[in-house]
Amino acid sequence: MKRVGVLALQGAVREHAQSLEACGAKAVLVKWPSDLEDLDALILPGGESTTMRRLIDRYGLLDPLRKFAESGKPMFGTCAGLILLAKEIAGYPEAHLGVMDIKVERNSFGRQADSFEAPLSIKGIEAPFEAVFIRAPHIVSAGAGIEVLSEHGGKIVMARSSQFLGCSFHPELTDDHRITAYFLSMIPSGTGISLPKSSVYSKV
Ligand code: GLN
Repeated sequence: MKRVGVLALQGAVREHAQSLEACGAKAVLVKWPSDLEDLDALILPGGESTTMRRLIDRYGLLDPLRKFAESGKPMFGTCAGLILLAKEIAGYPEAHLGVMDIKVERNSFGRQADSFEAPLSIKGIEAPFEAVFIRAPHIVSAGAGIEVLSEHGGKIVMARSSQFLGCSFHPELTDDHRITAYFLSMIPSGTGISLPKSSVYSKV
């Protein structure tokens, strides 16, 4: 079974965990650096990126999260989680993890449209996907290794590289688990399957 962490400091944690379990993965809540051990992938949920960053610092998670990224394991950021992953944040001097080669802008869809739903067409997923946006960021620009998966109103709202997946909206707030399943498919096959020792010995 694939073991996938959900950063559990703030925000839509439980919903991501439920979506993972609905897709047949084991959800592991991550609060301390040691919780990152033995995970196959990690989700950074939506919430408030500045609050989450404060808690990341308080729990000593910044370096461990960057090391997790260096290990090459898949990471998925939704909304505030996307902001945490980005290499650059428009109007701010510093990034948070700064590991995904994208520039994001916070709260990009205007005050009147603080929260809204929109049917998206997403590359690799049959249309439409009904997406929930809440004070959502968007991706202003993306590096060469990044593939744009979806746009809304001319703004990039979902993108991936071989390791990172990010979206502006909250896929975990609907009962549609296709994006969680898509993320799980980024985990190399063979991961999470461990033969019990006895079956190894029985071959000898
Ligand atoms: N506006 C929030 C931020 O900047 C993100 C909102 C969300 O995650 N729903 O962190």
